[in-house]
Amino acid sequence: MKIGITGGAGFIGRHLCEQLSRNNEVYCIDSLVTGSEENLKDLDVTFIKHDIVNNLDLKLDQIYHMASRASPKDFDSHALEIALTNSTGTLNILKMAKKYNASVLIASTSETYGDPLVHPQNELYRGNVNTTGPRSCYDESKRFAETLGYVFSKDITVRIARIFNTYGPYMQIEDGRMIPNFISQAIRNQPVTIYGDGTQTRSFCYVDDLVRGLVLLMNSNNGELNGSPVNLGNPEEHTIYDMAVKIKEMTGSSSDIVFLPLPEDDPKKRKPDISKAMQYLNWKPEKTLDSGLKETINYFKNQIMNPKN
Ligand code: UDP
Repeated sequence: MKIGITGGAGFIGRHLCEQLSRNNEVYCIDSLVTGSEENLKDLDVTFIKHDIVNNLDLKLDQIYHMASRASPKDFDSHALEIALTNSTGTLNILKMAKKYNASVLIASTSETYGDPLVHPQNELYRGNVNTTGPRSCYDESKRFAETLGYVFSKDITVRIARIFNTYGPYMQIEDGRMIPNFISQAIRNQPVTIYGDGTQTRSFCYVDDLVRGLVLLMNSNNGELNGSPVNLGNPEEHTIYDMAVKIKEMTGSSSDIVFLPLPEDDPKKRKPDISKAMQYLNWKPEKTLDSGLKETINYFKNQIMNPKN
């Protein structure tokens, strides 16, 4: 099969490239604003440098549409870019898919639930998103991407994955999200920066588990999934404070833990209900947090000691 992966040089996209290029002709489409060609070295993929906000014409069988900045650190500085990537960019990808009758998997997000009032979150929950807050460029444009996916699902196969917090090797050290921050701070014996009091929660899925779920979702023949979102994430919930302590312990770090202001609209709780993925895809995460963190810490140690690797 000919498979396109937008955002293929980024974190999750790179793992998809690795897995899918074993048996398919893979086209990695990336603007390189956050991804890096370095991530693709050793992979048998065709790289196309392209910003999906502009039209693209490529005859493919399947497209994993992963492109977008996803770190809250970028939501302020790159708000318009993010809003357009997920709206105009998604439209361009869906139009191209329709032209060639390709299937599309849209990478949506747990952020579509905003700061959720329902816990855990299942796909029927419609969310609590601030349309004009600092996260809205991401949250609302991903919600709109889902709407576009639903509209196009009348004509082509569209799968929508609501991806919860995911971590693993190939996250950027400077990504700004919690796991790369805590691990790199701990390795460098710099202060580990908790935003707020650390009682907020997240549920962390190892990237290999997520990629397995994405491939199952894309290839499911169940018509009920067309244009219908599916949560993919690990339901094991942890406070941010506990994560800081665990990462400090696992790295043998002498870092202090410091408390910084909580960003506006930072969700207080997040945990996926994955009943739908279990029922339709027979999927659930397998990697334990300890073993996933161990691999991620090793990756970051190597990156920090050999910056050009
Ligand atoms: N966070 C933190 N310190 C950091 C980075 C993030 O305490 O250095 C918190 C952040 O405020 C949020 C949680 O960790 O409550 C997860 O943040 P992340 O950016 O990883 O992802 P989010 O789930 O917010 O998209």
